[in-house]
Amino acid sequence: QDNKLQAIIAHAKEYGFIFPSSEIYDGLSAVYDYGPWGSELKKNIKDYWWKSMTQLHENIVGIDAAIFMHPTTWKASGHVDNFSDPMIDNKDSKKRYRVDHLIEAHADKLAMEGKKEEEYALLKNMEQLLAKDDYVALKQLIEDNNIVDPVSGTCNWTDIRQFNLMFSTQLGSVTEEADTIYLRPETAQGIFVNFLNVQKSARMKIPFGIAQIGKAFRNEIVARQFIFRMREFEQMEMQYFVRPGSEGDWYQYWKEARLQWHLSLGIPASEYRYHDHTKLAHYAKEACDIEYNFPMGFREVEGIHSRSNFDLSQHQQYSGKKMTYFDTELNQHYVPYVIETSIGLDRMFLLILSNSYEEETLIKDDGSNDSRVVMRIPPVLAPIKLAILPLTKKDGLPDVARSIMNMCKPHFRCFYEEKDTIGKRYRRQDAIGTPFCITIDHQTKEDNTVTIRYRDTMQQERINIADIKAKVFALIGA
Ligand code: ATP
Repeated sequence: QDNKLQAIIAHAKEYGFIFPSSEIYDGLSAVYDYGPWGSELKKNIKDYWWKSMTQLHENIVGIDAAIFMHPTTWKASGHVDNFSDPMIDNKDSKKRYRVDHLIEAHADKLAMEGKKEEEYALLKNMEQLLAKDDYVALKQLIEDNNIVDPVSGTCNWTDIRQFNLMFSTQLGSVTEEADTIYLRPETAQGIFVNFLNVQKSARMKIPFGIAQIGKAFRNEIVARQFIFRMREFEQMEMQYFVRPGSEGDWYQYWKEARLQWHLSLGIPASEYRYHDHTKLAHYAKEACDIEYNFPMGFREVEGIHSRSNFDLSQHQQYSGKKMTYFDTELNQHYVPYVIETSIGLDRMFLLILSNSYEEETLIKDDGSNDSRVVMRIPPVLAPIKLAILPLTKKDGLPDVARSIMNMCKPHFRCFYEEKDTIGKRYRRQDAIGTPFCITIDHQTKEDNTVTIRYRDTMQQERINIADIKAKVFALIGA
């Protein structure tokens, strides 16, 4: 399974999906850049989420808040005091680890050695001790299991301490006057502080939601597993404001609706599961994760949280500004309750890569074996929808292909290519997940038909040039 992740990382780099950041300087740990096809795929995931949240829900509107916020925001939200993780240092190597990551890495090793019961017991023990914040017992657990520093192989551990994950910087040029501000560790607070601005300006009535896509930053101590855990990443979050007392029903609604969103992409339900939280923040009423079966096992891709009126009440208290809503039906003022759905865009991207990547063995006409790497990306998300390929560079075929390109490119992302054999060109499109290829051949000049080739089945059929646009639209389901 680790091999599959390695293969995906290599493929993502070779085919222009993801590059390590500042690679010529040997990269920056847990920071990545999206390449030509990666940036298209990422944008398509955003659009798919944005459309389903805002366009298809008449009572959800979007915002785009700044990354920098007034520092008191993070006091009110609890991040200054509580957004920390238990850490442990190795005195020999001076390496620092998040305790849960260190233990999980060991659990993964046990699983790979087939020691399923030991893995389970270790994770269960860890969860219980984390829930109690029992750091003495957690350190004991690490020592009893002979968990070593994965880098140095030694284990001269310090005590476990808390370490805040927020990045800070200075606003203003003169050091004495400068205010310490934070790079937001989640996008949600930009929504909470704008709650009344949005409600009033867009004339929203409860229940209603505010959606946002944007960067978030966390100084993750052990950032690992490619883009699963990054220091700079993007979140797609939606806060849904409801009447007190109705939050249980809305929580169930969003828990179900968000899983349906994933399944609407054609990803098998067997690859997903819910993980209901047992350890809840003191303000939270209910919380669950949607987990996906990544190459390294089932891991969280999205969280759904019933957050009571905690955030708005906190901002009301810290800012001294009213955060209440007047419900005309009930003739009552109240601080609304909130259901939050929060998905990592980069994690969703890794999910799509993991679900799409396939090394397929093919049997050639002469009976010998061939192979291809095919990215079975859902057509609606594919970076390129249609490749337009003249069979040869001669006989006026490129001219016909060019006119098809001009006809289609205003409507969806197309790619024109005339170099190399048609077989090689098909393989390259398979490797970046292009669902359809159009080939222009000599028959095209006689009857205005082309072949359309399907990525997943490699089947081909002839269609009229005039039908290409409607056909591709129908197939991408956009
Ligand atoms: P985890 O336990 O994996 O660190 P979390 O519970 O801290 O995640 P939330 O604070 O609920 O995550 O954030 C919501 C979503 O944001 C997560 O489900 C995940 O998809 C994404 N996310 C969180 N941290 C990161 C990160 N460091 N890199 C990439 N995505 C992240």
